[in-house]
Amino acid sequence: METEKVKVLIIGSGPAGYTAAIYASRANLSPVLVQGLQAGGQLTTTTEIENFPGYPNGVDGTQMMEEFRQQAERLGADIRYGTVTKVDFADGKRLVTIDGEKLIDADAVIIATGATAKYLGLPSEEKYRGNGVSACATCDGFFYRKKDVAVVGGGDTACEEATYLAHLCNKVYMIVRKNYLRASKAMQDRVMNTPNIEILFEHNTLELFGDGVVEGANLVYRQGTAEEEKRQIKIDGFFLAIGHHPNSAVFQPFVQTDDDGYIITEPNSSRTNVPGVFACGDVMDRTYRQAIVAAGSGCKAALDAERYLLSN
Ligand code: NDP
Repeated sequence: METEKVKVLIIGSGPAGYTAAIYASRANLSPVLVQGLQAGGQLTTTTEIENFPGYPNGVDGTQMMEEFRQQAERLGADIRYGTVTKVDFADGKRLVTIDGEKLIDADAVIIATGATAKYLGLPSEEKYRGNGVSACATCDGFFYRKKDVAVVGGGDTACEEATYLAHLCNKVYMIVRKNYLRASKAMQDRVMNTPNIEILFEHNTLELFGDGVVEGANLVYRQGTAEEEKRQIKIDGFFLAIGHHPNSAVFQPFVQTDDDGYIITEPNSSRTNVPGVFACGDVMDRTYRQAIVAAGSGCKAALDAERYLLSN
């Protein structure tokens, strides 16, 4: 297989990857960035972004990522299509296979592969994505001011998103499949003490409906039991909060992750357990998951990689 030698290989094209590329380019490290399956990352699935500083009038997610890309490219980053299919980080190696057909031998690797929100898998979810279906209340909640919305899930994220939305929206339904919330007690208390949140325990979503945009959801209570009952709610927004998958599987034979697959980095650093391999953005951040935080961590990873290369 053809092997190419590069100084810095950045894997992923969200805010973390592009920011790492901007910094590594300016440090004369000639970074190569491999975009992955979803060029631009998760932000390309949101509509307008209003909380990224520097865009006083808001910006479309896809457009913002295109601007990140252009900035990285103008500074010298070599941005390529391709997906990492295999890595070999054994015995000091940093070999990365792209699309099963090309091998890159990198002096330093920056993993910025992000995370993917989980969806229920309903055909209507796909149909209304961006038109009432969202996996990020912080990103899209503002567009549902004074409206009725639903949040699916019973974990900390769902509770946090529901209370966030409750400040903006008229009413928030939480659709919880069990008869209890999995969230921490503090988060549960917050939800219980918010009058415009109604928890629908033991409910599952069958389908969403609406003319071009979400107008409601068909739910089922105690599905598969004698008490099974169908129910319809009228909502304008349907927010998924059933967890994220960090995109770390391909690295896991070598790079340490926690039980959920988030890459573990040293405290206040982007260093992983593999020398010369750094991680930034949502693939190592289970807590904040914001574009601005990912961009900041991409900057740290590039600085860490630069220091590593200088000292090796
Ligand atoms: P969790 O995995 O904790 O919770 C996911 C929730 O979604 C559960 O209620 C689960 O139900 C439900 N769910 C999963 N799949 C489906 C499905 N197919 N249909 C319906 N419901 C489904 O994920 P979170 O994102 O909430 O949290 C991830 C981690 O991050 C946790 O460790 C959490 O504590 C942490 N976190 C902490 C925060 C904080 O401290 N401020 C904020 C946000 C997250 P079930 O219970 O039935 O499995």
